[in-house]
Amino acid sequence: MNKPATIKQVRAFVVRGGGADYHDQGGGHWIDDHIATPMSRYPQYRQSRQSFGINVLGTLVVEIEASDGTVGFAVTTGGEPAAYIVEKHLARFLEGAPVTEIEKIWDQMYFSTQYYGRKGLVVNALSGVDLALWDLNGKLRNEPVYHMLGGAVRDELQFYATGARPDLAQKLGFIGGKMPLHHGPAEGAEGFRKNLEELASMRAKVGPDFWLMFDCWMSLELNYAIRLAQAAHEYDLKWIEEALSPDDYWGYAELKKQAPRGMLVTTGEHEATRWGFRMLLEMGCCDIIQPDVGWCGGMTELIKISALADARGALVIPHGSSVYSYHFVITRHNSPFAEFLMMAPKADRVVPMFNPLLLEEPVPVNGRLKASELDRPGFGVRLNPDCPLHRPYTH
Ligand SMILES: [Mg+2]
Repeated sequence: MNKPATIKQVRAFVVRGGGADYHDQGGGHWIDDHIATPMSRYPQYRQSRQSFGINVLGTLVVEIEASDGTVGFAVTTGGEPAAYIVEKHLARFLEGAPVTEIEKIWDQMYFSTQYYGRKGLVVNALSGVDLALWDLNGKLRNEPVYHMLGGAVRDELQFYATGARPDLAQKLGFIGGKMPLHHGPAEGAEGFRKNLEELASMRAKVGPDFWLMFDCWMSLELNYAIRLAQAAHEYDLKWIEEALSPDDYWGYAELKKQAPRGMLVTTGEHEATRWGFRMLLEMGCCDIIQPDVGWCGGMTELIKISALADARGALVIPHGSSVYSYHFVITRHNSPFAEFLMMAPKADRVVPMFNPLLLEEPVPVNGRLKASELDRPGFGVRLNPDCPLHRPYTH
């Protein structure tokens, strides 16, 4: 039996403009057009999320080089401060270790940073390292990551689209369309009416069977969320997503109790680790959890989170994250479909989610993607050499 390769070096880079930090877009993009947020209570931060700094960090790229020169990589958010954490703190747990010690490396990264980590930026950085390690192992074994996760349970992935134009997503073959909510509680009764009018007019365009969902990006308070869910039932809203602050587990539990029968409550894209998702699941906060594999602790942690959800009959529909999600979703029965973020500025055509950062990034055709499209070593993507990488720190 061959001895596994060891890890020679870990490197962290930052890059601007799209990529994993998909909020880092130019002007006129639907993703920055008066979307309701917790900052919407301040009029000066209501029109644009970039105005309050949503894209301040940029994309993090982690490369891990093995002793034989093979390089695995992954992309997530976190930019320069995440690069600092990877280079100055996390790299020590990888360099010199066998590439196969994924669990031990995760444990050491998490518990060595627990006193200042646990969620947010630190776990984003850790997730990027974990995903790069899975990519490296796939390349060394000449296997796609989804084979290492147990293999496909179906022949293809099926997608709903997130963006401003569910009516166009329907024509492109997606099974549903999730719209950003545009008006928060600070915009009062008029904003509430506009939200409902947008849903009603989209329902009229797409007809009765197409899924429509609202993504509320943590912008609401409980009473508003309950009233919105109840009013939206008339237009057959399939789910209400991330209505409240991720810290308000009690609010989510109440929202789930009071949401109309058949409407799903979803959340979790800003939750992290098995312990955070255990709270959501045990407190009865939602029907679908939506971990982001680049933020929740990486693939190693998503496996554990998903097992918790499976035992409780909850679906796991990971947030965005392109190939890093696809390789997971295809292997799990309780992840029956996937999210696709429409990154074209007008949400009118399919472009790769992490455009322009990755090459060979697969995209859905007619709302579907064959498992065989994932049949390349690791996560099956390459960095686009036209995107300049900057390495702000070394160690
Ligand atoms: Mg969301």
